[in-house]
Amino acid sequence: MNYRVLVLLTFCAFVVAGTVGPGTNVEARTGSLDAEFGAAARKYEVPKELLLAMGYVNTRWEMPPPEASAYEEVEPGEGAPEARGSYGVMQLVQNPSEDTLGEAATLTGISEERLKKDRARNIRGGAALLAEIQGETKPEDLNEWYEAVAEYGSGPLYAEQVYEVLEKGASAETSAGEKLTLEAQEGVEPQQMLTTQATQAADYSGATWYGASSYNYTAASRPSSNRIDKIIVHVTQGSWSSAINAFQNSSHQASAHYTVRSSDGFVGQSVREKDIAWHAGNWPYNQTSIGIEHEGYVSDPKWFTDSMYRSSAKLSAHLAKKYGIPIDRSHIIGHVEVPYPNTHYDPGSYWDWNKYMSLVRQYAGDTSTTAYSQVVDNTNSNRFYAASNWGTSSYSSQRYGSNYKFARPGATYKGAKYKVKTPTRGSYAVYGWWPANSGYNDRTVFWIWTTNGWASKTVSQRTNGGKWVYLGAYQMDALDDWNVEVSNQSSGTGYVIADAIKVVRQ
Ligand SMILES: [Zn+2]
Repeated sequence: MNYRVLVLLTFCAFVVAGTVGPGTNVEARTGSLDAEFGAAARKYEVPKELLLAMGYVNTRWEMPPPEASAYEEVEPGEGAPEARGSYGVMQLVQNPSEDTLGEAATLTGISEERLKKDRARNIRGGAALLAEIQGETKPEDLNEWYEAVAEYGSGPLYAEQVYEVLEKGASAETSAGEKLTLEAQEGVEPQQMLTTQATQAADYSGATWYGASSYNYTAASRPSSNRIDKIIVHVTQGSWSSAINAFQNSSHQASAHYTVRSSDGFVGQSVREKDIAWHAGNWPYNQTSIGIEHEGYVSDPKWFTDSMYRSSAKLSAHLAKKYGIPIDRSHIIGHVEVPYPNTHYDPGSYWDWNKYMSLVRQYAGDTSTTAYSQVVDNTNSNRFYAASNWGTSSYSSQRYGSNYKFARPGATYKGAKYKVKTPTRGSYAVYGWWPANSGYNDRTVFWIWTTNGWASKTVSQRTNGGKWVYLGAYQMDALDDWNVEVSNQSSGTGYVIADAIKVVRQ
């Protein structure tokens, strides 16, 4: 912290004691993202285009909630790679080794809490911080801000990302429906001299090496020291460069082997495959896995581009072949599937596992592991059972096969049962098929036997008729048994329908 900041800090402490911070009542709040960037740029004399490009790189102009990548302390060796402690569209940082959030609060007189939660103020805080880093002179030429941007983002890779966006322009619609466009800027140089050149080759030929700090992983000699039998899929909760830069920060206490970029699928490697990266939040899982981070936020599907899926799937296919990792959902898992003490839930519900796994299989050229699937229809007498409370109908043309079963909701449980074969223990996507009709039940319950006992899924059979409807993915044991049922009990009204079900190994 320089002298000027210290002076400001003293000044603000005084003013805040008087309950109103400087600046908080000067500007009227506007609801428009574009206006918020404009106001912040004018107030702190920073180029608006630059702020826009930074906001786009950081969060695609979304305002993530403070908990999206809040700082978290975990035991050494476990790792919480996404918990960098960065906040808002301008990614102000607060963790034990860095406090640009506090610095922005000092510079603007806005409280840290408001900087974390209020988009317009967060943008103002980012602008103030960038202006402070840049110093007295505020050049017109965007290129002359390069070093300040690199410092703001804890490394030249961040500036590289920002200047690429300035050069190409960007356009996005936020989840709140605000559309924003940044025009391509003339004369911008994305690759400037600050850029660190990779000094060593990566383990994977499709990756570029950006070695992590040795404080953030455990040196080992895998696969001889520990077998590698899992790939763990993560989402960074921040930009690609923010993840790579954090892994290079000796205080971060976390790392992942690879990080894949959203815009083009570019892969950076931070930790050698033989070494144990701290990414899973669980030491035994770290010991036996390779962690792949994907740029983006779990709450925003915009980040999950086709290029990113394909590039990551190629990498996973390569790793699976190299280490003999089975290509299935027991061995290629999400951070969310790592047990306690892990508490992270990435990659989240927008991550398309079916797409990802089929790409991994495709790139591995492995037709033998093509997803196993089984359909059981009510007409299959060896694999379907329903008691006499269930009638038979062929009324709807949306039926699967020649007919389907129907029952009035009853007080005593007499569900229709499907005998399903799940050849290996692992994750299975379960689908239901029914004809839809306004007289059918609006709260039909499917029961699925999982490794954690019975799980239920409630659907309306008044809609989505005549097609496979995804009921969710479930961990199931290697069994050939009566593991899926349609309940005859319902809190809804109308006939309950039992037609066909399908399981697909993931
Ligand atoms: Zn993760």
